[in-house]
Amino acid sequence: MLHIEPIPAFRDNYIWLLKNGRRAAVVDPGDAQPVLEALRRDDLTLVAIVNTHHHADHVGGNAALTRIHPVPVYGPAREPIPALTHPVDNGDQVQIPQLDLVLSVLGVPGHTLGHIAYYGANSLFCGDTLFGCGCGRLFEGTAAQMHASLNALATLPDDTRVYCAHEYTAANIRFARQVEPDNAALKDREAMVAALRAAGQPTLPSTVGLERRTNPFLRCGEPAVSASAARHAGTVLADTAGVFAALRAWKDHQ
Ligand code: ZN
Ligand code: FE
Repeated sequence: MLHIEPIPAFRDNYIWLLKNGRRAAVVDPGDAQPVLEALRRDDLTLVAIVNTHHHADHVGGNAALTRIHPVPVYGPAREPIPALTHPVDNGDQVQIPQLDLVLSVLGVPGHTLGHIAYYGANSLFCGDTLFGCGCGRLFEGTAAQMHASLNALATLPDDTRVYCAHEYTAANIRFARQVEPDNAALKDREAMVAALRAAGQPTLPSTVGLERRTNPFLRCGEPAVSASAARHAGTVLADTAGVFAALRAWKDHQ
């Protein structure tokens, strides 16, 4: 039976720990120390490292972890990943037999150009592409690329659990409420997230269905969202990609 739990790192990163019995894999270990502590605490053997993109807060622990545990490192083929042993790209599969787990690799460019996500066991590990009620900044890719990547993730089943790499949900909801003040599901989520944060709990995983109902970046086709984006941009937006670009620029300049 697969168990997934967050290892908090830095200020707001989550390194996701995937456990089955005494075996474990980690997604995006930006720091080795908290991973080593979690392995020791639960008496776990590390069997794999999985990376979504090349930023240091996601791969910074690879070298130290593989010095101690020489395990396979899966990561985006088109990015420089420390200690990478298994470069993967859109359409590939990652087999982690010790966890009885198979993950499908999805190419999701936008935050970075080679960014990938992993989908399996009804779970999505999306790095810095999709966040709770938000999405990653466009450091390397275009708005059109990110829009297409998010739309692809939104086609996954509604009950897919969404494991994002940062705890950004509360701040994202403040922005989303400006975009869609009348969205009742968003109001409910705001209350739920406030309660979780007050209790010191993570707001993740969410689900694809919840993101589709509340995340403005997945709702560019909704009349209320496109009207809000057009009003803020002060121009007519031709299509959903234009709405996405306007929303991303709006949030960037908050
Ligand atoms: Zn990043
Ligand atoms: Fe990050």
